[in-house]
Amino acid sequence: MFRKSVATAVAIVFTCAPVLPALPQAAARKQSTASALDSATLQSLAAVAGQAMMQPTAYTYLEQLSDDIGARVTGSPEGQRAIDWGVATMKSIGLDNVHTESYQVFRGWTRGTASAELVAPIHRSLMVDAMGWVGSTPAGGVEGALVGVNTFDIDNEIKNNAASWRGKILLAYQQGQPPTNRMMGFLKFGDLLKAAQTNGAVAVIGGQGGRPSAGMHLTHTGALGFNVSYEIPVVSMSAEDQAQLQRYVERGVPVRIKINVQNKFSDEPVQSANVIGEIRGTEHPEQVIVVGGHLDSWDLASGATDNGCGTSTTLGAASAIMKSGLKPKRTIRFVLFTGEEEGLLGSLAYVKQHKDEMPNHLGAIILDAGQGAVTGLQLGGRDDLIPATEPFAKSLQAFGKMSVDDEVEFGTDTLSFTLQGLPGINLNQDTTDYKYTHHSAVDTLDHVSADVLDRNAAIMALTAFWIANRADRFAAPWSPEKTARMLVDKHDDELLKALGLWPFGDLGANPNGPAD
Ligand SMILES: [Zn+2]
Repeated sequence: MFRKSVATAVAIVFTCAPVLPALPQAAARKQSTASALDSATLQSLAAVAGQAMMQPTAYTYLEQLSDDIGARVTGSPEGQRAIDWGVATMKSIGLDNVHTESYQVFRGWTRGTASAELVAPIHRSLMVDAMGWVGSTPAGGVEGALVGVNTFDIDNEIKNNAASWRGKILLAYQQGQPPTNRMMGFLKFGDLLKAAQTNGAVAVIGGQGGRPSAGMHLTHTGALGFNVSYEIPVVSMSAEDQAQLQRYVERGVPVRIKINVQNKFSDEPVQSANVIGEIRGTEHPEQVIVVGGHLDSWDLASGATDNGCGTSTTLGAASAIMKSGLKPKRTIRFVLFTGEEEGLLGSLAYVKQHKDEMPNHLGAIILDAGQGAVTGLQLGGRDDLIPATEPFAKSLQAFGKMSVDDEVEFGTDTLSFTLQGLPGINLNQDTTDYKYTHHSAVDTLDHVSADVLDRNAAIMALTAFWIANRADRFAAPWSPEKTARMLVDKHDDELLKALGLWPFGDLGANPNGPAD
């Protein structure tokens, strides 16, 4: 899905070091953290870390998923093959109660072909790929005049120009003052697409809301909202080609484009499913910490970094804890969600299907920011959990510095749990390279380092085991009032309302008017 952090990441990369052998400076550092976690906790975590680092499995799983299954769009036959693979793999790890939980996706979609060429003022082919869940041009394609649309000024563009868009191809670009809330800007783009469709435009170029594609000669596909589809074909174009078209538009040079996009929608809703397996708790089996990442991917390559990394670290974490032979006090439930790319469909279905169990949930630990090293734990608005979490984060320092904060991650399955008042724990990552592989034709296995991936799986296993095996309960859900209040204070309510995901009605409103 879309990510707050991709644009702002700071690069920190550590080579993995197993926890057990004490390095000189580690000894000094160990001195400072010893008091933080008691020795019994450290001992059990060391056992889990030892398995994760000395018998890693995540990269093996990722290779199977990327090269033997490949792209796995939600609701597609390949998506079903990935689900079957997930079930078989969880069973091979020895997890309990391995099963799938199905849910319905509003509409199925299959990518066909996409091509475009510049016809005037000069002739050359252009690099395009369709965004997700968009329609097609007439068979054989269509030719039209190009019209620039500034996505930083959508309301005026629609008001002043939409009536003249019939038969035109729109070029979305960004100019001038950006909207204060970038996410809201993403949603506003939906209004533009609706107006383009209604006024008879034949295609839209610039699927990232007009923002140039990251990387050289790369396109980035993706959904254009939560649970939405558009009949009008919308394509992502390489940055180089989009920039050339934008220069023509700015110079007032008449441009003609020929574009041919062929995709297919299903007539009926389609089925998908989440894959679930557990390590049952010994003392409080009814209490559950969810650990996961989304199994579905886009289809310009093999979805290795999005989100093969989250899927394989989840399975790698399960394997390490199982191999440690330790049984946690509470249940660790591993979930491979699907439907994430179409709007968190799988995790929203999960919290709905497990509504009665939510009071017994402790939170969810999610990895979905690509191939980079984990650099911290974001607790999804639960600032009350920072004091308890910091000593644990400190104990991981052989894996590198781990920040702890209460950032709410919107762009992945953490959000479904945050909306339940639970810590939607996002494993924050270095995303320096992720912006290139994210939803692009270079989302392939060779862009993932086995040592970084296995290290991330170790951190996921340790975080899950630490939460599940604590003497006291890590967290209970906040009340809807308190959760709503937190989201209002973080100015996240506006976006959630615009996405149709705000379940709190008027709760959380500041009695003294909007918070500063
Ligand atoms: Zn993802």
